[in-house]
Amino acid sequence: MKKFLAFDIGGTKIAYAVVAENGKLQTERRKIETPKTKDDIYRCLEEIVRQYEPEIDAVAIATAGAVSLDNKRIVSSVGNMAPGYRDIDFQSLSSKPVYLENDANAVAWAEYKTGAGKGYNNVIVIAIGTGLGLGVIADGHLFKGKSGAGTEAHFSINRGQKRRCSCGAYDCYEIYASGTALGLDAKEAFGDEHMTSYDLIRLMQEGNPKAKEVFDMWQNDILSGIIGFANLFDPDMIVLFGSLVEYIEVGKLEKEANKQLVSSPFLLRKADNGHNAAMIGAALIAADYVNGNRK
Ligand SMILES: [Zn+2]
Repeated sequence: MKKFLAFDIGGTKIAYAVVAENGKLQTERRKIETPKTKDDIYRCLEEIVRQYEPEIDAVAIATAGAVSLDNKRIVSSVGNMAPGYRDIDFQSLSSKPVYLENDANAVAWAEYKTGAGKGYNNVIVIAIGTGLGLGVIADGHLFKGKSGAGTEAHFSINRGQKRRCSCGAYDCYEIYASGTALGLDAKEAFGDEHMTSYDLIRLMQEGNPKAKEVFDMWQNDILSGIIGFANLFDPDMIVLFGSLVEYIEVGKLEKEANKQLVSSPFLLRKADNGHNAAMIGAALIAADYVNGNRK
């Protein structure tokens, strides 16, 4: 069985583990803080690769940012990563092949191959975190667009509140449907600068009606995207991924979305894979290359 050293590189932490070609972790998941400069990130990755290199077939990296069609480099700027991060020569990290994929795309591939979407050919994953990532499997292929930068969920939902999104535009879907958005909703509704999304959820669980109202508003914002993506792609299933998803009323949103749909009915589900999903997806993509199933 082939094995891959898989990384999940984000703005605040880097997680890594050895993952087999069946998607199972072969080592414990380890986690370090993301270094502040591009050179330190490189040195840190290089050191980890050196430790595992003898036992692996390739390196598999899930990263923030759009990744080229050949899975070898980052093609777009990467918001909260160190300056110059996108220009890192990832291929020089190892004498073994190195494959990259965008983190939301990697999560989508993991859910499609081993998770909630297994057995379906058209699966969309909405990854709800600090930002909002989208991954689309269309007819069994990961949809990447012409350069690899496709499926960015940035479009105006015109709420007129003038919230600035990470992309620079105002009132984008991401700034109303992400985890950051729920925190902003809570701060605005309660007039408390320090309130977080989890403070709001705690209040809601204690039965606070205002907290429930704010949470419902956020759920409805997510729903508007779900309906849009379902109409655009006609998927078998849309999968919600991220730590806030456990609080979302998936059954209710599924019913509501299907009621408003122009395209054919679809399933809405929570992701099966937890916080290892991006590493698993990246490893499965690397496995396809190593096994000659991708060129
Ligand atoms: Zn945006």
